[in-house]
Amino acid sequence: MNLTNPSEIKAIINENGFSFKKKYGQNFLINKEVPKKIANASVTESEKTGCACIEIGPGIGVMTRELAELYDKVVAFEIDSELIPILSKTLADKNNVTVINKDILEINLKEFIEENLQGYKVSVCANLPYYITTPIIMSLLESHAKIERIVVMIQKEVANRLTAKPGSNEYGSITPSIEYYAVVKKLFDVSPGNFMPKPEVTSTVVSFDIRKEAPINPKSKDLLFKTIRGVFALRRKTVLNSLGSEFSHISKEDLTKCLEEAKLSPSVRGETLSLQQISDLSDAIFSLMNA
Ligand code: SAM
Repeated sequence: MNLTNPSEIKAIINENGFSFKKKYGQNFLINKEVPKKIANASVTESEKTGCACIEIGPGIGVMTRELAELYDKVVAFEIDSELIPILSKTLADKNNVTVINKDILEINLKEFIEENLQGYKVSVCANLPYYITTPIIMSLLESHAKIERIVVMIQKEVANRLTAKPGSNEYGSITPSIEYYAVVKKLFDVSPGNFMPKPEVTSTVVSFDIRKEAPINPKSKDLLFKTIRGVFALRRKTVLNSLGSEFSHISKEDLTKCLEEAKLSPSVRGETLSLQQISDLSDAIFSLMNA
């Protein structure tokens, strides 16, 4: 069985009456080196005992089979019920794999890991459906689940945004939000010709090493994230004007004082601010609100 051979994929899907669904972002890998390379990148240490992997969207199981070789336990969440009978055949020889027919966004991952993967070092690995890349990544990071590393393939354009530097065109609210939780690295690009059906865009595999401790220590995490939203609300406007969208109850005069306290000019643009600078600003707003 070669799950990356287009004729074999067609035979498997025809036999099982499966049809590709755009709404689920179904682009299956057809180059066997790629799932192997992604799966290898998801492993945190050379010592592989006591490790488990959560896969999002196994498709017909091409990467799941690679993960099953590397991990003691693999749990794969697949939303499309039509793929479940296919997976039960393609993964029949993999006793360490459990497939769950559920939407990953409906899973409480923290509870799931505590109940099912207690004592394992957990990684997440996926060729993500592009239509919900950012919600999935943010829900993984915000879940506070015990995850060590996330390795996912996403659209190249999104990978550029996640790893952008302050002041660049790609830098947006998602960049410092993710930096708070993880160290993000671009690993390698995968061209459209490696998928069936062929997507219109190039993909990039990205790793997220989850931080044990945040790189900054804001007085209020909720206020920090509110400040991030405020700073980026109006692109190409001054940070003072942009902040008004989230902090309409604070006067411009007081917001100017907060900016001064954070050693920022009111005319600076939000998209040039680092996570540390946004945190200083959020702390100044916190002090004002709690004075
Ligand atoms: N892993 C396979 C591969 O690399 O060939 C398939 C990857 S395909 C890009 C994305 C997969 O995610 C599909 O199997 C799709 O049905 C599944 N999927 C889409 N949305 C999902 C969700 N919310 N929860 C779980 N799986 C989802």
